[in-house]
Amino acid sequence: MRFSFILLAAGNSNRFKSKLPKAYHKIAGKTLIELSINKIKQFKEFKKIIVVYNKQHLKFLKKIKLKNITVITGGKNRQESTFNALKYLQKEKEIQKVLIHDAARPNFSKNLIKKILIESKKNSAVVPVLKLQDALKKKYSKKEFLNVKRNNFFLTQTPQCFDSKEIFNLHKKNKDKYSDDDLSLMNDSKKIKLIHGEKRNFKITDGVDFELFKSINKFSLKVGIGFDVHRLVKNKKLLLGGIKIPSTLGTLGHSDGDPVLHAIIDAILGACQMGDIGEKFSDKNKKFKNIKSTYLIEKIIEQIENKNYEINNLDINIITQFPKLKKFKNKIVKNISKLCKIPLEKINVKAKTTEKLGVIGQEKAIAAEVIVSVIKYD
Ligand code: ZN
Repeated sequence: MRFSFILLAAGNSNRFKSKLPKAYHKIAGKTLIELSINKIKQFKEFKKIIVVYNKQHLKFLKKIKLKNITVITGGKNRQESTFNALKYLQKEKEIQKVLIHDAARPNFSKNLIKKILIESKKNSAVVPVLKLQDALKKKYSKKEFLNVKRNNFFLTQTPQCFDSKEIFNLHKKNKDKYSDDDLSLMNDSKKIKLIHGEKRNFKITDGVDFELFKSINKFSLKVGIGFDVHRLVKNKKLLLGGIKIPSTLGTLGHSDGDPVLHAIIDAILGACQMGDIGEKFSDKNKKFKNIKSTYLIEKIIEQIENKNYEINNLDINIITQFPKLKKFKNKIVKNISKLCKIPLEKINVKAKTTEKLGVIGQEKAIAAEVIVSVIKYD
């Protein structure tokens, strides 16, 4: 049997209260969209994966560079979005079954998919559900509440599996009858199989859900250390954390000589056991002559994201007698936050002098040391 997977990521996630749409939030460098897709890609039964996106989110979608995925623009509600994908699928004659899934539920297990695939052979719809565990009440009047027998109620989850043609026809027939759920369209179908859903497969609706989702995923914490020093000379630029600092002295180096970014890169590489900056970007290689360190750090962030690492926090010491950095600290933090794709609260920058001692005290050199902690999700 050949399956397709439709991932619905076209909602406007108003309840999430964030400029970045919910489906594009990341855990260990992967968006919620990618987390679902990566699990599905491990099943050879899926011949077609479709992501339905919101037109207004196109710039976020482009950033995640999906491979072998069909993307389709969504409609004004869930039903329209699903319909758009189903309509597209009708051209793909070899697809018999379709799993429809909400991107807001990235935490389903592969076992759930296995169960759905098995049950789909004998049923035209397979839907994971959860029984209610809390007491269910109905407000009767202002002060009266009725007990409701919860046995007759259950909560539906996704992915839900349907016959591709059958669900398309039902959607077409019920186009004007809005439904937030595909199962409700199936009332005249005979073979609906309800299977046990998963508590872990909860829907991420707001920031609290997102924190909960992060906390139940197993991870390991690792720490790395980085250090860098550059000579200070006349007629050179001084870049610290990618920010140009007005100064009569600047750094000498093969690249743009930014000791802060170099120490951050080394700390990250250390924590992720990926070697050091010299191995990654050799100063023997002409390609890296005068290269911007902001480019180097962006490359490293991309590489650690591919290995499921996320930066947990950064602590940075900039050691220099001259110039005074107090005025620039906020700017540096902001830029590092952008480059490392982490919130400002996870970064701390301290400016230190050496009390005029040694080469740094004599304004002949500038150094930076960094400690980073990273999280790796399993
Ligand atoms: Zn350096």
